[in-house]
Amino acid sequence: MIKDVTSTWIEPSSTGAALLLLGRGSDPSAEKGVECPGELPSPSDPTLVERAQRAKAALGDRLFVLGHHYQRDEVIQFADVTGDSFKLAREAAARPEAEFIVFCGVHFMAESADILTSDTQKVVLPDLGAGCSMADMAALPQVETAWELLEDLGIAESTIPVTYMNSSADIKGFVGRNKGVVCTSSNAKRALTWAFERGEKVLFLPDQHLGRNTAVLEMGFDLDDCVLYNPHKPNGGLTPEQLRDAKMILWRGHCSVHGRFTLECVEEVRERVPGVNVLVHPECRHEVVTAADYVGSTEYIIKAIDAAPAGSAWAVGTELNLVRRLANAHPDKQIMFLDRNVCYCSTMNRIDLPHLVWALEELAAGRLVNQITVDADTARNARVALDQMLALP
Ligand code: SF4
Repeated sequence: MIKDVTSTWIEPSSTGAALLLLGRGSDPSAEKGVECPGELPSPSDPTLVERAQRAKAALGDRLFVLGHHYQRDEVIQFADVTGDSFKLAREAAARPEAEFIVFCGVHFMAESADILTSDTQKVVLPDLGAGCSMADMAALPQVETAWELLEDLGIAESTIPVTYMNSSADIKGFVGRNKGVVCTSSNAKRALTWAFERGEKVLFLPDQHLGRNTAVLEMGFDLDDCVLYNPHKPNGGLTPEQLRDAKMILWRGHCSVHGRFTLECVEEVRERVPGVNVLVHPECRHEVVTAADYVGSTEYIIKAIDAAPAGSAWAVGTELNLVRRLANAHPDKQIMFLDRNVCYCSTMNRIDLPHLVWALEELAAGRLVNQITVDADTARNARVALDQMLALP
């Protein structure tokens, strides 16, 4: 049903997520869960490292710990493998002997691991409050409303939905049901090429920046080919003509970490450090990506710094835990954070050592806690969209 765009616009009230402090509180309306039950060890307990080692040793091969690149150092030291969200989900699937997959990352990543692993494997998220603000920006009812609008306009048939890995299982399931594909920041161009071979336009969820940057900078589209669908406005805040004319219908979502980098950050660092290389993630705003020297996924950023010559200077626009680890690993290079302000992913940082110790000790004691499961119907449809991504040429 097409709604009257002249109706009164009411600004939505802010969610509880905006009020969450590290490791405190919960937001039941978000895609993630709620805070952990149970007694967490004190963060000042000097035996935490030893306790984690002991619990891990007790679980042996039954346990496999995954650590996302943006996790804290205190947690990443216990990861059996580190990587981006997709690499980690595949690593989990490649370990069928592991009964427990402890995912040190955020909720949508644990969901993907559950979808890609066998039914006998249990995926555990040490803090259920570790969600992703970007994934929260696209809820299934909102996306279904948008799709109904495209159906009413007669353009759904020629629209291919593409969702970034950083979305809930519900959204991946929606995309699978509607003949679309999942993408990562490494294969977004291939996914869009595949989609445009099958349709005339793409509904890109939930990260507007990855969608816009890929379409404009890698595929030759104009900015005018892209429109921004705002789920909080009637008809997405767009006219039927705008939707009909668009090639890329971008969902109005963004990463609250990468979205903080501005053009001023790039200009300031270039002035401060002559000859600096600016390296950013494609979740950054279009003007930041355009002003940067290099753009790529987390894995690309790691490889670029590894391959950089000694003495070179790099300003990196991605999450701070990763940038700091890169700087420590490459003392012969000058590696700095693109923004002068601290820029952690607050939800990633909810997984801390007390939560990890608690989860591991509970598992070692035979108590399954914080299991992440995706219902069979959603998992089946999401798997279609994930398998389509794996089959991309
Ligand atoms: S860094 Fe951004 S996209 Fe990644 S989990 Fe945090 S909010 Fe989500």
